[in-house]
Amino acid sequence: MNKKTINASDIIVKGDGIVSLLFALSLQSGLGDSFSILIITNKEFSTFNDKKNVRTISISLSTVNMLRALGIWESLVDHTQCINEIIVSSVNRDNINSGYLNFNSNVSGEAASYTIEEHILRDKLLSIIGAKRNIRFINTEVDSILHKKNTIQIITDEGSLFETKLFVASDGRKSKMRSLFEIKDVGWDYNQASLSAVIEHSKKHNGIATEIFYSNGPFAILPMRGNRSSMIWTMPKDEIHAYRNTNELFLKDKIKDHFGYDRGEILHISNIGIFELYFQISRKLIGKRFALMGDAAHTVHPLAGQGLNIGLRDAATLAEKIVDAVRYGFDFGSSSIVEEYEKDRRFDIVSSALAYDSINKFFTNKDRNLHQFGKIGLGVIEKMPWVKNMFVREASGLNSSGARLTRGEAL
Ligand SMILES: Cc1cc2nc3c(=O)[nH]c(=O)nc-3n(C[C@H](O)[C@H](O)[C@H](O)COP(=O)(O)OP(=O)(O)OC[C@H]3O[C@@H](n4cnc5c(N)ncnc54)[C@H](O)[C@@H]3O)c2cc1C
Repeated sequence: MNKKTINASDIIVKGDGIVSLLFALSLQSGLGDSFSILIITNKEFSTFNDKKNVRTISISLSTVNMLRALGIWESLVDHTQCINEIIVSSVNRDNINSGYLNFNSNVSGEAASYTIEEHILRDKLLSIIGAKRNIRFINTEVDSILHKKNTIQIITDEGSLFETKLFVASDGRKSKMRSLFEIKDVGWDYNQASLSAVIEHSKKHNGIATEIFYSNGPFAILPMRGNRSSMIWTMPKDEIHAYRNTNELFLKDKIKDHFGYDRGEILHISNIGIFELYFQISRKLIGKRFALMGDAAHTVHPLAGQGLNIGLRDAATLAEKIVDAVRYGFDFGSSSIVEEYEKDRRFDIVSSALAYDSINKFFTNKDRNLHQFGKIGLGVIEKMPWVKNMFVREASGLNSSGARLTRGEAL
């Protein structure tokens, strides 16, 4: 392509993660085929078809509602497993159980969360997008940007020129677009890593999710379709090396004690992945004709399985602002529209990220007194059903978003 040729799209999205894909489909659902969407991918950084695409993710009711409103849920439901009950406990450094909580994971008679394999969700979204004429992909890297009167121009590494009213980046934690728009972030390395795997077991799981807070990191087991469970085992980064390139037998032995015998024998372990953990929040979600979404804007500890759900609430909110602006004839890339997006999303993002960070810090320590305090805390909450209901509603994502899609309403 020649630099002088301007390729115009109504909106340009950088990154082809689940947040970007559902954002594009949300816009499509509200504005139809005449609204053109260009998704910029970069094969060099692709997180798909490699070891990172092995995870099973827990999706909250806000995400399920969004998938329902977009007409996608029906084709996925047979691949999902609802979480009926959540058992949380903590174990101190002497291996003594120091607290227990049991939640009925229900909101108004419906499961507050489900699990699904990430590759199934992504493949489904890609196949739906493949049939949409107005959503295109291009593999390139953004080199620089140029603001024009009512548009923003994007110049790629090879010198091609793209123009749009709004540029959105959801290209993951390492997003280069933050620095291009001079957006600073706050963050730190947890010095922890999670080992994720799918475990096939001999007994039924009955839709029960278990999370045990050990003094060196949380260990979570989520029920999956069939007699399978997803394990997320978080430990100090320097301990995870023993599990890299390991064999199934070694893993079985290591996992047995933590796993819990109520699910019977471990028959098979697959989809093993290792993920280093970071905390990161952007100081701003927006720039001139620019918005950040998903992990590019906030990366949170996975102990509550909420990172993607929060990112999808960004996508649902921004899509709603854009669709409404287009319908009323406003400039959807203008400062007032992106500022509304930032205002609506700030609290949910910061409060969720800090809450998971505090829980991790509270339980991941060797201090016996803190564990004793945690035991009392969990014991008190266990006796307060209304507090437990509040936690479940919070985890469902319904408290944190006013976006229509997350309530199951069409745009
Ligand atoms: C161990 C673990 C377990 C988790 N479990 C859950 C869970 O149960 N539930 C939940 O809600 N969340 C969970 N999360 C968090 C969740 O995985 C992320 O929040 C989510 O994947 C973020 O989606 P995203 O689309 O914003 O970013 P990503 O998934 O990181 O996607 C970013 C995309 O951008 C692309 N990209 C990167 N660089 C460029 C570039 N330069 N140009 C163009 N494209 C680029 C990548 O290829 C990728 O497609 C978990 C995280 C971890 C680490």
